[in-house]
Amino acid sequence: MEMNHLQDLLLHDLKDLYNAENQILKALPRMAKKASAPELKQAFEAHTEETRRQIEKLEEVFELFGEKAKGKTCHAMKGIIEEGKEVMQEDAEADVMDAALIGAAQKVEHYEIAGYGTARTYAEMLGNKQAARLLQQILDEEGKTDKKLTQLAENLINVEAMQ
Ligand code: FE
Ligand code: FE
Ligand code: FE
Repeated sequence: MEMNHLQDLLLHDLKDLYNAENQILKALPRMAKKASAPELKQAFEAHTEETRRQIEKLEEVFELFGEKAKGKTCHAMKGIIEEGKEVMQEDAEADVMDAALIGAAQKVEHYEIAGYGTARTYAEMLGNKQAARLLQQILDEEGKTDKKLTQLAENLINVEAMQ
């Protein structure tokens, strides 16, 4: 792909995020299934639905730049999810597995936070306020999810039992 303008770079990044979100949409239900704490299960299920809406928001952003939504394999998300899968195969106590799931999920969220922060800034620089607003909305959701996971780790995991 030719990248002569900032908009080309933004579209490149949007394709990466679009593919990453679609990978996440498949991974989250597996993580919900594997979680033991009901609050964690519920958080994964809620973020699955949120992810579905984020994919639609991304489609809107593509449209705002006159493009059809299209993904390009996000190798980083592939790796992050692969590592999550590996740890999910371990024979772990329920609380320890929950902690591992939270850690894996936070790596996903942090990748998204980096990606959406950059994309939002590019959209702003290009003067596309509507696109910037949508990307900021998603960024806020990823940030909230990350904080929620930190909270769950602090509240749910019985640290003494894990020692
Ligand atoms: Fe997302
Ligand atoms: Fe990527
Ligand atoms: Fe997310």
